Amino acid sequence: MSKNITTRAEDYSKWYNELVVKADLAENSGVRGCMVIKPYGYAIWEKLQGELDTRFKETGHSNAYFPLFVPKSLFEAEEKNAEGFAKECAIVTHYRLKNDPNNPGKLMVDPDAKLEEELIVRPTSEAIIWSTYKGWIQSYRDLPILINQWANVVRWEMRTRLFLRTAEFLWQEGHTAHATKEEALVEAKQMQDVYVDVVENIMGIPVIKGYKTETERFAGADETYTIEALMQDGKALQAGTSHFLGQNFAKAFDVKFTNKEGKQDYVWATSWGVSTRLMGALIMTHSDDNGLVLPPKLAPIQVVIVPIHRTEEQLQEIGNKADELIAAFKKKGISVKYDDRDTHKPGFKFAEWELKGVPVRITIGPKDLENGTFEVARRDTLTKEIVSAANAVDYIENLLNEIQEHLFTKALNFRETHITEVNSFDEFKEVLKTKGGFLLAHWDGTPETEERIKELTKATIRCIPMDQKAEEGVCVLTGKPSKGRVLFAKAY
Ligand code: AMP
Repeated sequence: MSKNITTRAEDYSKWYNELVVKADLAENSGVRGCMVIKPYGYAIWEKLQGELDTRFKETGHSNAYFPLFVPKSLFEAEEKNAEGFAKECAIVTHYRLKNDPNNPGKLMVDPDAKLEEELIVRPTSEAIIWSTYKGWIQSYRDLPILINQWANVVRWEMRTRLFLRTAEFLWQEGHTAHATKEEALVEAKQMQDVYVDVVENIMGIPVIKGYKTETERFAGADETYTIEALMQDGKALQAGTSHFLGQNFAKAFDVKFTNKEGKQDYVWATSWGVSTRLMGALIMTHSDDNGLVLPPKLAPIQVVIVPIHRTEEQLQEIGNKADELIAAFKKKGISVKYDDRDTHKPGFKFAEWELKGVPVRITIGPKDLENGTFEVARRDTLTKEIVSAANAVDYIENLLNEIQEHLFTKALNFRETHITEVNSFDEFKEVLKTKGGFLLAHWDGTPETEERIKELTKATIRCIPMDQKAEEGVCVLTGKPSKGRVLFAKAY
């Protein structure tokens, strides 16, 4: 297998695109901005879904499903949300095609089949869900409602990239309804923590917890909590968001309830989501010039066994050893593949599994049969060791944990060395140009300054960190007073 991927140093963005395609994760489709997720990529997404879904259920949520289409009158009900998404939505106007009389063999939109009311293909589901919740909520006894939906959504993005930004993407969206503001705030922060847990402990990606400025906030939210990750090229990536929606949607859809005191009040809301963008984060955080590097907890195949033989008898004997190993791995819940394809040479197989990011490779050759050993190779460090067959299974179980931790620590070290405190605008520009990464800088708190900094440098405020230290300072751009540093970066 020829790897031939562009290196990160040559062209990071090209490296990413080639890697996604060559590792068989996804490819561009014939449909503008939409991708095909291939089985290997989808297997990783499914594992990620499983981890998220388990935690959603542990925190009391249930899955449900709402329509793909949002009638325009519902879509426009919450004005800020509508305004935010109006710029990038797909609209269904007709429900039938007919033969085109002027173009034999071609179809045309049937002008007689115009919908009375246009349907918006959901870019997010607050509108359709809150119009439904209206019928479900009368009293405080009906609350809270804790629902999640796994779905696809459509946002008509102009500049798309595999996984990171596509016109159609897969995600989950949680939509909860509460009797009090406090409860809704606790929920929104709880789900931010669930995202931190999965992204750090399963994906091995360190994140910074924070909340968005007004400009970067979700359209229709009172507060947006976010987790921000740093990619190897020094650009930030928003890995997940959780919104406190106040009573905005309840007011827009007239969702009131009778509280314990017998008074009517509007319901409080949250929504939260992560998408297939996380796949992009996973790829860009850990992978190298040889291909994908997967954390063991998300790898569809954790261990691959490759036989090296000269004679058929040797292959038979190696096969027996492999069977024993596979049985022992299965007992421990370790997923393993025995690659005994006779159509490919071992060297080709090594390169292929390396490209696909399988965390551990075991090679069994004639020497190993004699010595009672295996050769064990780590994908993350590309190092090899000879391991005694007798304790190989325990060794590899530990090794998988070690790789999981190592990937996180390595990414954390990178992140820590790429957070820079800057105290002047010159320094801001200089660090952004030479080093990239996150910049901690004072800002005067106005949207105008935020916008101006973005125009001048392309860096945006990723978040106001949850653990922001109180510190008197002056805004890097305007010199006006500031009470704490915020996190800037160029972002995906
Ligand atoms: P939002 O509803 O805008 O808060 O987005 C929810 C999640 O989807 C966030 O984690 C976003 O980073 C992600 N997301 C937003 N737009 C896209 C897109 N075009 N493609 C993939 N993921 C996206």
